[in-house]
Amino acid sequence: MLQDYTLPTTVDEALILLISCNGTAKVIAGGTDLALDLESGEVSANCLVDVSNIQELKKIETNGGAIIIGGGVTHSEVAGSDLIKEKAAVLANACRAVGSLQIRNTGTLAGNVVNAQPAADAAVALVALGAQAVIAGPEGLKSAPVEELYAGVGKSKVDSTREIVTQLHFPALTGNQGSAFARLAQRKALALPMLNVAAVVSIIDNTFEWARIVMAPVGPGPVRAKKAEELLAGTEVNSTNLQKAAAASCAEANPRSSSLRGSREYRIHVLEVLVRRALEMAVANAQKS
Ligand SMILES: Cc1cc2nc3c(=O)[nH]c(=O)nc-3n(C[C@H](O)[C@H](O)[C@H](O)COP(=O)(O)OP(=O)(O)OC[C@H]3O[C@@H](n4cnc5c(N)ncnc54)[C@H](O)[C@@H]3O)c2cc1C
Repeated sequence: MLQDYTLPTTVDEALILLISCNGTAKVIAGGTDLALDLESGEVSANCLVDVSNIQELKKIETNGGAIIIGGGVTHSEVAGSDLIKEKAAVLANACRAVGSLQIRNTGTLAGNVVNAQPAADAAVALVALGAQAVIAGPEGLKSAPVEELYAGVGKSKVDSTREIVTQLHFPALTGNQGSAFARLAQRKALALPMLNVAAVVSIIDNTFEWARIVMAPVGPGPVRAKKAEELLAGTEVNSTNLQKAAAASCAEANPRSSSLRGSREYRIHVLEVLVRRALEMAVANAQKS
C-alpha cells in the first residue's frame, strides 16, 4: 500500500530514497502510465519517488554534436524545442503525436521508454536516432542503447525501483541527413498508434550512406527493419530503391490482429505504405537541409 510520496531535488537524493526503500519504492515522473497501473493494481509501491522537481533532469542541450535530453523532460518540451525541430525532427514530430496536450505536458520521454510499451511514440523515434540512455543506480552510472532496454512487452531492463534514467542522448542530424515520423491512428488526438514508423537517412551524392527504419507496434518493442536498412545502404536515392526497402521492411514486422489496431493483414499492407512515406519525407528533409 502506498505510504509515502517524496519530491527530491537532486538525483543523488532520489537514489538514496530508492535504496532506503529496498525495492518497494518506484520512480514516478509524469505519472501518466504509472498512476493508472497503481490504480488498477498492476503495479504496487510503498513509496513513490517523484523526479519531476529535479532541475538537472529538465535540460535539453547540445554538447560536441550530441543532443542531450534530461530524464525529466516532457513531450511538450521536446515538441516545442527549436533545437530538436532542427536537428532531430523525427523526435519533435513523434512527441507532438502523443496523447493530448495534458498528457504531453506531464508525460516524459524517459517514462515513455521505461514503460516499455511497443508502440510508444517517442521511444520509436529515439531508436531511429540511435539514442543511448544514461542510467544512474546504486552502482554508479551506466549507458545503454534505448533499443536494448526492452525485456518484453511492458518490461524494461531499467529497474525503476532502484535506477533513474538521467539522460537520453543521440547525435544531432547533420546537413546531409533527414528524418521523418509517420503514424496511423483512429483519430488525430488521444489515440494510440495502430502503426508508427520513424526513419532517419544519411545521403551523400544522391546515395544512401545509411538508413535507420524503426516500426511499431509490430513486435515486443520498437523493431528495426535491419534487412531493409542494409538494402538501402550504398544504393542510389530513387523511388525504386525506396519501394524495395518499404516492401522488405514488412518481412521483418510481426503485427498481431487486434480489435483496437486492426487485422494483421491490414496492418502489414499499411505498414509498407507508411515506411515508404516516412522514407520519402526523410529523404526530402535531407535534401533540403
Ligand atoms: C490518455 C493517455 C494517452 C496516451 N497516449 C499516448 C500516445 O499517444 N503515445 C505514447 O507513446 N504514449 C501515450 N500514453 C502513455 C504515456 O503518456 C507515455 O508513455 C509517457 O511518456 C509516460 O511518461 P511519464 O513521465 O508519465 O511516466 P510515468 O507514468 O511517471 O512512469 C512510467 C514508468 O517509467 C518509470 N520512470 C519514469 N521516469 C523514469 C526515470 N527518469 N527513470 C527511471 N524510470 C522512470 C516509472 O517508474 C514507470 O515504471 C498515453 C497515456 C494516457 C494516459
